[in-house]
Amino acid sequence: MISSNDGLVKYLQTSGALKTDRIIKSFKAVDRSDFVPNSLQSAAFADQALPIGWGQTISQPATVAFMLELLQPNLGDKVLEIGFGSGYVAALLSQIVGKTGLVVAVERIAELGQQAYKNLTKYNFPQLRLVIANASKGIKQPAAYDKIIISAAASKMPAEVISQLTEGGKMVFPYGQDLQEIILLEKVDNKIIKQSYPGFVFVPLVD
Ligand code: SAH
Repeated sequence: MISSNDGLVKYLQTSGALKTDRIIKSFKAVDRSDFVPNSLQSAAFADQALPIGWGQTISQPATVAFMLELLQPNLGDKVLEIGFGSGYVAALLSQIVGKTGLVVAVERIAELGQQAYKNLTKYNFPQLRLVIANASKGIKQPAAYDKIIISAAASKMPAEVISQLTEGGKMVFPYGQDLQEIILLEKVDNKIIKQSYPGFVFVPLVD
């Protein structure tokens, strides 16, 4: 039983899920218990997805680490997150891009948005913009983005979202119906290079 955020980070490093220094630092700076409902605090540092209300979940830490290691966000990046839920991933991204970067995080369920706003109050992230909208087609303003992460599973290729990537940009998202794969796309010379990693489960991206 892991009982602290530092314990969770050590576990993710030992298991090999976390590798990159700046991503490790973000997991240390952002306390997962701030994004877990009061009734589930005893499980806040367990490596499992947890319900956050409205039928949604905060993703499993190892899966978040895996996606961020594929995405490789950098200081100063402009990042889009679709489906910010509890705000946990949005906070990690904000920590990594810093005040010279920008994170546009979008959530379709307004009540979750308000809860995330509260979860984030102790953090000082002027670089984070929370938007309530359906972002199944991305967010045109202020596209294009250096990095895009979709935190819910797409059942078809999100072409409009992909078109909002910068040249050299990267995007990660779960794809599929019941059992999903995580897809990494990279836009190089205006072509999309794709890699996929099977064996994940996410809540669906709502069209
Ligand atoms: N990254 C979140 C994970 C939340 S689960 C966290 O760290 O807690 C995925 C979220 O995607 C859910 O909150 C769901 O409401 C949201 N979602 C699903 N389809 C969406 C859409 N089309 N636009 C915006 N948000 C969406």
